Amino acid sequence: MHSKNVKGGFVSVPVIKKETSVLKNYINGEWVDSLSLNSLDVINPATGETIVRVPVSTKEDVNVAVEAAKEAFISWKSMPVPKRARILYKYHYLLTENHETLAELVVLENGKAFKEAYGEVQRGIECVEFASAAPTLMMGETLSNIAEDIDSEMFRYPLGVVGGITPFNFPMMVPLWMFPLAIACGNTFVLKPSERTPILANKLVELFTQAGAPKGVLNIVHGAHDVVNGLIDHEDVKAISFVGSQPVAKYVYERAAANGKRVQALSGAKNHHIVMPDADIEKAVSHIVSSAFGSAGQRCMACSAVVVVGNGDQFVQALKEKSDELIIGNGLDEEVLLTPVIRETHRSKIVEFIEKGIAEGATLLRDGRTEMKQLSKGNFLGPTIFDQVKTDMTIAKTEIFGPVLSLLRAKDLDEALDYIRQSRYGNGATIYTKDAGAVRKFREEADAGMLGINVGVPATMAFFPFSGWKDSFYGDLHVNGKDGVNFYTKKKMITSRFDF
Ligand code: NAD
Repeated sequence: MHSKNVKGGFVSVPVIKKETSVLKNYINGEWVDSLSLNSLDVINPATGETIVRVPVSTKEDVNVAVEAAKEAFISWKSMPVPKRARILYKYHYLLTENHETLAELVVLENGKAFKEAYGEVQRGIECVEFASAAPTLMMGETLSNIAEDIDSEMFRYPLGVVGGITPFNFPMMVPLWMFPLAIACGNTFVLKPSERTPILANKLVELFTQAGAPKGVLNIVHGAHDVVNGLIDHEDVKAISFVGSQPVAKYVYERAAANGKRVQALSGAKNHHIVMPDADIEKAVSHIVSSAFGSAGQRCMACSAVVVVGNGDQFVQALKEKSDELIIGNGLDEEVLLTPVIRETHRSKIVEFIEKGIAEGATLLRDGRTEMKQLSKGNFLGPTIFDQVKTDMTIAKTEIFGPVLSLLRAKDLDEALDYIRQSRYGNGATIYTKDAGAVRKFREEADAGMLGINVGVPATMAFFPFSGWKDSFYGDLHVNGKDGVNFYTKKKMITSRFDF
């Protein structure tokens, strides 16, 4: 099968040959079978076909991987930082060389559009760029003469073995938020990718090994709950980086923290976009449609609620018209924006939310279930828009993680900001306006960690922290930026007297 890529040429779509083959774990520099005989289907969301199977590994698999990582830590932490960084440079080169292949794998197992997958791969590569600056990032602090003839210095050291647990929706970017920086800082790593998107993770490890990473520095254990529990309970795992849904993030945070680990747990979201009366309607609609329905709404920074300030009828009409024009289909098709959701079971849950929205009295402006019935194969669902949504409705309060958009009406900016304040989540929020006063008020008062001013997906780049608030994040130090360096290192203070 061939399809057009973003640059207009033709690319071959990766084919995993043996449909029934089971992916291997990567432990201590070798591809090994899981100790478990259980495995799950990895399904192409656009076709419903099984691509490969993923092992449901056990705590024993985790123990072997952690042991290997612990052993590797002894020499890895002592390797000079610039030498560690050089492996990252090489990795950057290899990822860039394989940019299209990696994007094709994202489309294959996650289902998103090739263009978005290509962008995701770029975001991941930027994390490696950032981590390559480890010699600068790891610098400590010094102050001479803190008292007579006495100086103070602070050095940074790695923690040891770090565990990373990742979701299905960014199979490239999220693992790369974690292991390149952790490893550049001198830690060793055990990654547990999503069991729904495990294929790309193996490619990431393969390329990292090719870049020269010694055995045991990066390990993969595939699976589900048992692997997660194995990591968060293991006494030799010193820190856990988690990204996933809210209940699991809270569970992982609480259990790993109770076990004495450093934890960062990035969680679910409900991101509000405020459309002010002076907004450029065409541009606002274009940003909102792509934010809400791109990746089938399965982004933690997706717009899932629009607060329309003032009359707004012209905006709502334009939004509906633009949504009607969206092309739905396989992510390999260049024109497609709305791709399938990850699993049939997930689509059923989204449909239940739509039914709940109707039952609770919201106005169904556009019903995506129509397209669902038209497309027989794949987990497709058309764009769904509810108007007149109230803050106490289920669809306003809950993360749906699908192509369902709620419109709330507000009389002014104060009321719109109050809606954001009422949300339990605080990942992102955006305002569309040309009014500097409204922008400043929004910047000061919006109760979320990543704000956009006329920006549809205000996700931060790797040198800034990815800084969700409230129930969108559990922990103290976020991923990426200086927070990431602080998370993956511990500080040692030296006080020296020189009058001896
Ligand atoms: P998920 O919570 O189902 O899975 C995440 C990871 O946790 C997976 O590796 C999975 O195997 C594991 N897991 C799932 N249930 C578990 C359980 N009961 N016990 C132990 N481990 C378990 O999340 P998902 O559906 O893969 O990803 C989508 C979610 O991730 C959304 O809620 C989205 O908002 C969130 N997300 C957040 C961010 C952010 O930056 N805040 C970024 C990406 C995704």
